[in-house]
Amino acid sequence: MQMVERGLSEEQRLMRESCRAFVDDFVTPFIRKNWQREWLMDPDQRLPAAILEQADRIGVRTLAVPEEYGGIQLEAGSEVRTFALIAEEIARGDSGLADKLVQNWKVSVLLRKFAPKHLQDRWFPRLVKEPGFLLAHCLTEPRGASDRWLPYNVPEAAMHTKALLDGGEWVINGRKQFISNGYDAGLFVVYANTNPKVGMMQGTSSFLVPRDTRGLTIARCNETIGCRFMNNGELVFEDMRVPKDHLLVEGDALGKAGIYFRPGKIIQAAKNLGVGMSAYERTADYVQHYVQGGRILIKHQAVALRLADMATRLSAVRALVREAAQAVDESAPDADTLCNMAKVFASEEIMKVASHAMELHGGNGAMLDFGIEKLFRDASIFLHMDATADISRFKIVKSMFPQTAGAYAGPEA
Ligand SMILES: Cc1cc2nc3c(=O)[nH]c(=O)nc-3n(C[C@H](O)[C@H](O)[C@H](O)COP(=O)(O)OP(=O)(O)OC[C@H]3O[C@@H](n4cnc5c(N)ncnc54)[C@H](O)[C@@H]3O)c2cc1C
Repeated sequence: MQMVERGLSEEQRLMRESCRAFVDDFVTPFIRKNWQREWLMDPDQRLPAAILEQADRIGVRTLAVPEEYGGIQLEAGSEVRTFALIAEEIARGDSGLADKLVQNWKVSVLLRKFAPKHLQDRWFPRLVKEPGFLLAHCLTEPRGASDRWLPYNVPEAAMHTKALLDGGEWVINGRKQFISNGYDAGLFVVYANTNPKVGMMQGTSSFLVPRDTRGLTIARCNETIGCRFMNNGELVFEDMRVPKDHLLVEGDALGKAGIYFRPGKIIQAAKNLGVGMSAYERTADYVQHYVQGGRILIKHQAVALRLADMATRLSAVRALVREAAQAVDESAPDADTLCNMAKVFASEEIMKVASHAMELHGGNGAMLDFGIEKLFRDASIFLHMDATADISRFKIVKSMFPQTAGAYAGPEA
């Protein structure tokens, strides 16, 4: 598809090529050969360290880490577009691996903006030095994440995880669930309520929490339907104390996290596109070789039409992701709206692309060792990541009509 390359700078084209080579030479052969490995019930054993080491060698692990710490800081005016193209390429190989890596980029964007200099000096060098070092971003709680995404800015919808200042330390109690890299990250950004009397836009603060902090327990690794090479985890905080300087943003942390969420949604949509591209490429190849009724599949018109439908949906997703990414890069007023549109549109369109891939592979599509059902499973995860489809649509309409659709649906004032 020529559309993939259109409009890329020379630097972006080169980065894309090296990611493609990494995926084609390392990731895809590994996944095809070791298709059982994602089902290992020991999360530490699933993805070999060599894959992250290789990702490190081509420089895609520490994107967004400032150059002074040895990271790779992309051209500021097109950073989010570059994130998107790399996230897509890696997810074309494996969506879980892409999840693992992109959390590092997304959280680095937050840290370089809000972490005090001495803490950046401590953590960025570790991230750069250790290929297995991961970051995580912890918002979701057992009582639901949708309230935070919307958000209804009333005290009753506030977070249950609470932080209180006690002398020189913050004491945090609560729990977080469904956290990407939550099982194996070395450093966490944790959101907690610091003022129960006000809405969550004024009463939520964010903290930096190192993995070895007393009072932090990694309670479990969730066994997910897809993206299984990313270890999704659950965390419990019991009188967990972090020094006062580990506070990143006090009070309006959710609003300030926009610099994480906007690129985050583009990256989600782009990873999703990578899953769809993989489903398309494998299907396009299959229908050119597999014979039924005396002819290769693509000669059967119903098959050819499905392939056209897959390609059309992928192009539509790509166009919207690109437009939304450009809006974020340019801090355009409609960037928020477009990010949510791109995320929800990608999740539903790629689900259909993956479903066509399953159907065109017939029985092979349902066989674990064939690898097509994996793409279908991976695609299904995107419906719920970074807000459900319904909540994403709520956010779209709220951003367009803040006075009416954006107001709390409780009793009329
Ligand atoms: C693989 C994976 C990775 C994730 N990674 C992270 C992460 O790194 N960090 C993190 O903080 N979270 C993470 N999440 C959590 C994710 O953001 C939430 O699962 C998602 O936002 C939905 O929240 P919930 O699961 O709490 O569902 P709920 O909020 O309980 O929603 C349940 C259902 O109710 C609907 N609903 C809820 N409220 C309303 C309403 N007011 N009006 C209409 N419908 C409503 C929802 O649309 C949904 O259908 C991850 C989730 C997954 C699956």
